[in-house]
Amino acid sequence: MARYRGSVCRLCRREGIKLFLKGDRCYTDKCAVARRAYPPGEHGQSRRKVSEYGLQLREKQKARRIYGILERQFRRYFREAERRKGVTGENLLQLLESRLDNIVYRLGFARSRAEARQLVKHGHFTVNGRKVDIPSYLCKQGDTISVKEKSRGCAVFKEIVENGGGQVIPEWLEVDREALSGRVVRIPSRDEIDVPISEHLIVELYSR
Ligand code: SF4
Repeated sequence: MARYRGSVCRLCRREGIKLFLKGDRCYTDKCAVARRAYPPGEHGQSRRKVSEYGLQLREKQKARRIYGILERQFRRYFREAERRKGVTGENLLQLLESRLDNIVYRLGFARSRAEARQLVKHGHFTVNGRKVDIPSYLCKQGDTISVKEKSRGCAVFKEIVENGGGQVIPEWLEVDREALSGRVVRIPSRDEIDVPISEHLIVELYSR
């Protein structure tokens, strides 16, 4: 599947906040947002009035970039969120959080969602004992996500066992770092999803 291959720090600068797309570097003073806190490009430092549409668009782009999703797939998630019972904005975030690559990242088995996506694609994970190499696979309540037996010797996973990952695990997930395994305790409610997104703006954008 196609994906964005340009500079990811540029995306953070465009949104004006840290999107934590690069793993460890994001927590150092090398972070591009910390060094150049204005949008990239020739007109990055000029002030412009942002329209209502512009605000909605930026919010949608921010969400897409945080989860690393292209436009067409993001729109599909939105349509699915609309179809489901409940609040569309919350449904949308729940769908995004349920993706396997996101859960691998949240469990601390990868330093960024991009790394999680690559590890999943390379077939390092199982869901309920069966190999799954599709990053967009939607996990459900009760699913167990584990590092495959054969992959446990890989340097990236050895480091997690030795150093304990270092990530705060959200309450809706459970992790056993020694066993390199985790479980979806429940699908998170909006207040358990700590992403800086105003999802109502995305709903407004797609409802135009
Ligand atoms: Fe964004 Fe991380 Fe780059 Fe900082 S280092 S601009 S948070 S991707």
